[in-house]
Amino acid sequence: MRIAILGAGPAGLYLAYLIKRRRADAHVTLIEQNPANATFGFGVVFSDRALEFLRDDDPESYAAIAPQMESWTDMTLVHRNERVTIDGVGFAAIGRLKLLQLLQERVRAVGIEPQFGRAVASLNELADADLIVGADGVNSLVRQTFADQFGASVTYGSNRFAWFGTATAYDTLTQTFRQSAISTRIITATRRGAAPSSSRLTRPVSPVPVSRKCRRMNRAPSAKKFSPTRSQASG
Ligand SMILES: Cc1cc2nc3c(=O)[nH]c(=O)nc-3n(C[C@H](O)[C@H](O)[C@H](O)COP(=O)(O)OP(=O)(O)OC[C@H]3O[C@@H](n4cnc5c(N)ncnc54)[C@H](O)[C@@H]3O)c2cc1C
Repeated sequence: MRIAILGAGPAGLYLAYLIKRRRADAHVTLIEQNPANATFGFGVVFSDRALEFLRDDDPESYAAIAPQMESWTDMTLVHRNERVTIDGVGFAAIGRLKLLQLLQERVRAVGIEPQFGRAVASLNELADADLIVGADGVNSLVRQTFADQFGASVTYGSNRFAWFGTATAYDTLTQTFRQSAISTRIITATRRGAAPSSSRLTRPVSPVPVSRKCRRMNRAPSAKKFSPTRSQASG
């Protein structure tokens, strides 16, 4: 079976690895428009639960990835200038480029050499494949090409997102809510050790979406530490 996977981001790389691991006879072609060492973005955060799934289903990949991660157990909310620590919310982060490089090693280990620097302009270029997989991200050519068959549609929201690298060290995953006269901003900062932390700024047009957990904490300002139940912590 000839399988063409368009896009060697995390999804394309890992799918290529899983297919080849299970079907050694499959001919897997993995195509990526960017060079091997290019990335857009900073850290990628996994919840403890996500890492548990990886460890249980694919111990080898877990053993390759987990030691490269930095982990922490608390999350911090900063709301109306009050810092509240939520414990028991385990996360681990890894640089996006490092994750891609590790996944590239995984696919090479099963005999796939990704085709980097090849931008596919039309799916006709992949006409000899029995199966085409669209792992080509948010502006997917595969999704656009078969939009009618998939029933795919795209709508644009009014929130703005921006990502920044910052030299500020964050001890935990930190979400800061800031209200100004014209907008509300939510800044999500993740810890990345010696590398720049990743800070995502979201500007919703609607009022701050204060979670129920957060409201609970506001009713009890003295309660600085909140321990979620296991189900709350697993997201
Ligand atoms: C700064 C930042 C931080 C993020 N942090 C997190 C996080 O902490 N946790 C999390 O879960 N998610 C995070 N995300 C979102 C996460 O990056 C995406 O969910 C993830 O990248 C999706 O993976 P993917 O492989 O589906 O798509 P992508 O990573 O978008 O990969 C698609 C690939 O397809 C290639 N491609 C597209 N079209 C073509 C074409 N025509 N020809 C050849 N190649 C093509 C692209 O170059 C790209 O490499 C973050 C995103 C950003 C920008």
